[in-house]
Amino acid sequence: MPLKPAIDALISDISIVKQRSNISTAPVVLMGVTKGQPIEKIEEAISAGLILFGENRVQEAAEKWPSLHAKYPKIKLHLIGPLQTNKVKEAMELFDAIETIDRPKLVEAIAKHQSPDMRCQKFFVQVNTGKESQKAGVFPEQVDELIALCRTLQLPIAGLMCVPPVDQPPAPHFALLHEIAKRHGLTELSMGMSGDWQTAIRMGSTCVRIGTALFGSR
Ligand SMILES: *Cc1c(COP(=O)(O)O)cnc(C)c1O
Repeated sequence: MPLKPAIDALISDISIVKQRSNISTAPVVLMGVTKGQPIEKIEEAISAGLILFGENRVQEAAEKWPSLHAKYPKIKLHLIGPLQTNKVKEAMELFDAIETIDRPKLVEAIAKHQSPDMRCQKFFVQVNTGKESQKAGVFPEQVDELIALCRTLQLPIAGLMCVPPVDQPPAPHFALLHEIAKRHGLTELSMGMSGDWQTAIRMGSTCVRIGTALFGSR
């Protein structure tokens, strides 16, 4: 399917699922995840009306996005993949938000570079709800401490992000993320991908991150 009708259809499906979900949180935003996609595809998505994008590698984003940012100043880009401390400055110049804060060292590095001159002014903590050893994200039992450190270092956290284990029903993971956010008064929940976005919306997602369902396989 060409991109424009696919995006229109998905936005319409998202609002239907949201209306039926009985959850009265903020509207759900659609993020286009463009890792592995060429600049032409991204421009096609922008022409079709998408205004929020996600990339999961700093290096790849650095190759694709400076020219796009120059051409489309209103488009927002979020980092949704792991971040090494030595790439923090580069990431903060390139992304509008970092969604993958998951350890004290990273909080400290980001807090150190925080400034009104940086493009990046929005921050999320990623929670490893399934406690998978190979996956990024802070474990649920350490999240309170990490959020407290963010507050101490005056790093404002907008919300939480998670990627549930592929081999489990996602609902309990989304519920856990929602509960942690509520406990900390955080309003944004970045959760839901191509295979589970409907469930995520029913559990209170405010941003679904969609790659393959829009752009095809990578
Ligand atoms: C790739 C990716 C997505 C999009 O996944 P799809 O299943 O292709 O929609 C969402 N979030 C993160 C963190 C990703 O790495």
